Amino acid sequence: MVLVLRDRADADQVDYLKAWLKTMGVETRAVVGNEQTIMGLIGDTSRIDMELLQSLDIVESVRRIQEPYKSANRKFHPDDTVVRVGDASIGGGGFAIIAGPCSVETEAQVVAIARAVKDAGAAMLRGGAFKPRTSPYAFQGLRAEGIELLLKAKEETGLPVVSEVMDISQLPLFEHVDVIQVGARNMQNFELLKELGQLRKPVLIKRGLANTLQELLMSAEYVMAGGNPNIILCERGIRTFETETRNTLDLSAVPVLREKTHLPVIVDPSHATGVARWVPALSLAAAAVGADGLIVEVHNDPKHALCDGAQSLTPEMFSKLAERLRGVHAVGARSF
Ligand code: PEP
Ligand code: MN
Repeated sequence: MVLVLRDRADADQVDYLKAWLKTMGVETRAVVGNEQTIMGLIGDTSRIDMELLQSLDIVESVRRIQEPYKSANRKFHPDDTVVRVGDASIGGGGFAIIAGPCSVETEAQVVAIARAVKDAGAAMLRGGAFKPRTSPYAFQGLRAEGIELLLKAKEETGLPVVSEVMDISQLPLFEHVDVIQVGARNMQNFELLKELGQLRKPVLIKRGLANTLQELLMSAEYVMAGGNPNIILCERGIRTFETETRNTLDLSAVPVLREKTHLPVIVDPSHATGVARWVPALSLAAAAVGADGLIVEVHNDPKHALCDGAQSLTPEMFSKLAERLRGVHAVGARSF
């Protein structure tokens, strides 16, 4: 971190600042110029409050040189992290597809979809049991029963399963769920993130509707700081002024995140577009731009789905897409 001090900064105030920083474990080196003094902060500045420094009378500006995330930072961990889930893995050069319904509805529904996506090459099955809905009158998910049905589909097909947790109190139900999803609306539920840091189970963190990539990485850092290194990041579209699509898929997040972090990055084209017929194009784009995989919604009867039918692919659409994805991944950004 570097501070630029105001030219009127008095020596006593500067000494006081240096002493205070020292109590925080940070050394200082000042470069005194004719016009201004620049002060370099040396040591772990992750606990230093930048806004507080900025507010001091003697400080003109503050600049962070190092990113505030350490465990998630590629600088300190150059090799890709590969998250292993049963026989599947995400990261390190492959392309893993997680597919399934937005919500688990019935045993017949989730088992049929699981079989279909497995046949088409999906590595994991998704299915929501706890649904974060904008309206309290909308279908809220089957909750505990939904998890049970999802686990039946896991038993039937052998596919590892991914499901969203909305609250710490629900975690005991997730014992046999292979990947715990933190949804966009919970990306900054810090108490939940800390709790997930105590587990060793893989955690899929979706980018919040209005969160920066740095904030997403700080959420991953919360889980990693607790000791859980098994994190998968997901770009699922952000809110912009555009209304034609449900969200705006920020595909540039993929190369940016791949540079900044060693964690695997997947894309959710379903919540990004909100419209099934646009999902294949963005899925192929995600593979081309270097994503480590996808999480995509598939329903055997989208018209009657209890949640997100409009954006759900039919098993036939998914099967065609999976085939084309293999070719694109082979020539995409991961290959050069
Ligand atoms: C979901 O995956 O079903 C979901 C609710 O996604 P998001 O949190 O990205 O809106
Ligand atoms: Mn959904």
